[in-house]
Amino acid sequence: MKPPIGIFLAFWLLSSASAQTLNWCKSQPRPAYNKLERVKTPDPWFEVYKIVPGVFAIYEPHQFEEVISYLVIGTQKALLFDTGMGISNIKAVVDGLTELPVSVVNSHTHNDHVGDNWRFTDVYGMPTDFTRTNAKGSTADARAELAPGQVCAALPAGFDAKSYRTRAFHITHWLQDGDKINLGDRTLEVISTPGHTPDSIALLDQRNGLLFTGDTFYLGPIYLYRPETDLDAYVLSVKRLAELTPRLQLLLPAHNVPVAQPDYLPRVLDAIQQVRRGQSKPVSRDGQREYMFEGFSFLLSR
Ligand SMILES: [Zn+2]
Repeated sequence: MKPPIGIFLAFWLLSSASAQTLNWCKSQPRPAYNKLERVKTPDPWFEVYKIVPGVFAIYEPHQFEEVISYLVIGTQKALLFDTGMGISNIKAVVDGLTELPVSVVNSHTHNDHVGDNWRFTDVYGMPTDFTRTNAKGSTADARAELAPGQVCAALPAGFDAKSYRTRAFHITHWLQDGDKINLGDRTLEVISTPGHTPDSIALLDQRNGLLFTGDTFYLGPIYLYRPETDLDAYVLSVKRLAELTPRLQLLLPAHNVPVAQPDYLPRVLDAIQQVRRGQSKPVSRDGQREYMFEGFSFLLSR
């Protein structure tokens, strides 16, 4: 007797989903981290790396997004560029790294970058409707982060998956393109980079040649398929960042690996222009079109 096809299908789906999870978990730690200086932190949900003096990457390696938030320290105050998933407590990690007052600035307000904003009293935001809506909190995107295959280690003790959501937060200052945030002996300039979302920004530390790129660029599949993405705006934003390349020493992106060479920026510009001109052929991936390039790809909607 032949088993019904449905059983084969269910088995295949289950085994391919678990194989995917296994592959992602197995590929950790990413080799790039071996070269970085790790800093001890008591919470096993996070890994902290000192990238250059005064700049720490706070990495969440056990969730599929592999999001990276950055703590940048001046002589007078510190700036936290994103607050991560909100699965554990990033404020406790930050409090262990600096005693200075901390302001939160977000690369954009997708759930995986604002999860712990609510724990902070000084939060900067871009004056867009997208930002205002996200500041009210949300549930669906946060829940999806816990779906099967998305988490590859124990969730923090006391974490309640049933009540997990992105909590509302209060924006205390509104930012504009070109604003300079003085941390004391270190200044970060806000560069508006709409595209991935309407409120995406990069931060430029001109004196030290550092560019924090948010989700506009990272090594991996760059998500450009959601309804809030504007591809024309994205091309212009990448162009703007690529023009900075000669002045840069290092890119610090918001996912996967916290260091990348600045010469990726002109390559990303060239790549997205190829995509827009129809000169690059996509492959199909999870219902999206993926355009592959060396070190990164773009995920666009069908
Ligand atoms: Zn994002």
